[in-house]
Amino acid sequence: MGKTLLKKIWDLHTVRPLSTGQTQLFIGLHLIHEVTTPQAFDMLRARDIGVAFPQRTFATTDHVIPTLDQARPFADPLAEAMLSALEQNCDEFGIPLWNLDSARQGIVHVIGPELGLTQPGMTIACGDSHTSTHGALGAVALGIGTSQVRDVLASQSLAIDPLKVRRIVVNGTLVPGVFAKDVILEIINRLGVKGGVGHAYEYGGTTIDRMSIDERHTVCNMSIEGGARVGYVNPDDITFDYLRGRPFAPKGDAFDRAVNWWRSMASDAAADYDDVIEIDAGTIEPRVTWGINPGQSVGVSERIPTAVGGDNGAVAEALDFMGLTGGAPIKGTRIDVAFVGSCTNSRLSDLREAARVVKGQRVARHVTALAVPGSQAVRVAAEQEGLDQVFRESGFEWRGAGCSMCLAMNPDRLDGDQVCASSSNRNFKGRQGSSTGRTLLMSPAMVAAAAVAGEVADVRDAV
Ligand code: SF4
Repeated sequence: MGKTLLKKIWDLHTVRPLSTGQTQLFIGLHLIHEVTTPQAFDMLRARDIGVAFPQRTFATTDHVIPTLDQARPFADPLAEAMLSALEQNCDEFGIPLWNLDSARQGIVHVIGPELGLTQPGMTIACGDSHTSTHGALGAVALGIGTSQVRDVLASQSLAIDPLKVRRIVVNGTLVPGVFAKDVILEIINRLGVKGGVGHAYEYGGTTIDRMSIDERHTVCNMSIEGGARVGYVNPDDITFDYLRGRPFAPKGDAFDRAVNWWRSMASDAAADYDDVIEIDAGTIEPRVTWGINPGQSVGVSERIPTAVGGDNGAVAEALDFMGLTGGAPIKGTRIDVAFVGSCTNSRLSDLREAARVVKGQRVARHVTALAVPGSQAVRVAAEQEGLDQVFRESGFEWRGAGCSMCLAMNPDRLDGDQVCASSSNRNFKGRQGSSTGRTLLMSPAMVAAAAVAGEVADVRDAV
């Protein structure tokens, strides 16, 4: 019987089985940021413990930083305190920090792969739910909480429950205007936001095989929104080409040796899966969420569901919060804000797709539109291509790298009950900084189309 990538990585990183039924796993790479670390470092200090492997620990700043005025101290004292604590902790414990003045700074899930820190066959941990993003390169990447950040800092290991593996096979060709974001929204819609609980999602099939690493990042990023603990794509030539020449990737002969090993970590052809799901890519439309979790989405040509008995009031609650009417078309829903950004969709290819839609067009008068690159490197590359100009000329604001309006722990936030067309990953109540703010998740190209139309529009009409 063959092994899955998850099983291979799990076996290689097992420190010991625990009496709880969990496994103590060694963590190859620990990525940290300002939000989930201050208390973790305080706990180390309280017990007089150092960081076990500072050379396997890297820090960036992303969640709280303003994307407009980055002068210190920040206007928000809490944000300033968090970043100051990170600076102090990295200094004291010998951890490299890519701060605002570094060309390597950016959203933690954008810079890890971009710098070649994220590699196939690794175990990765980070104090952020969307750590599953790194699975795009064939890693087992775990989002963790503050007490687990402490555990990894102190021991470079984690206690993890066993996981089943569901292989999600997407075959066929996506129609123009349908992107990786639509694929993962479709998967979550079909399997449910809790469908992946207790599972790793392995993505494969001809559609996934053809995807770039950026696109695979988008798919793996939202695994957690489907309840999966991790999501991954088996490493292949696209993975190796992506990693070649990146600052932390092996060099010369070491790279070739690494490729041989990375290739061996992919799931075996005869691997045994707990479950296999098949999806025809040709049936996927551009998708838009209408509700308050990422599973509540419809194709852009479809109608918003009607509340019916037996759904425990979930549809009615969502419609009430969103101010939408069951049975109405999602297309034409008025928006106030458009946001292209977040660790789901802030990479160069995302910005290119959004820019392609807005080029030569104007953002609707009543819409505030933000384009926020995921990292300094993405910002520079986008500016070299003139994408910043395309955005500015259309009426988008072009910002500095950061999480921005995804979570709104910074000045970028919704006001009152504004409706936001967003390329981010969560549409929970209050997610974008206003308790009554409303989020419609969609692809960056769909956000761009909505920004121009001033309402939900079908990007297929614009491509
Ligand atoms: S962009 Fe959003 S989901 Fe991603 S790391 Fe930042 S806050 Fe978390």
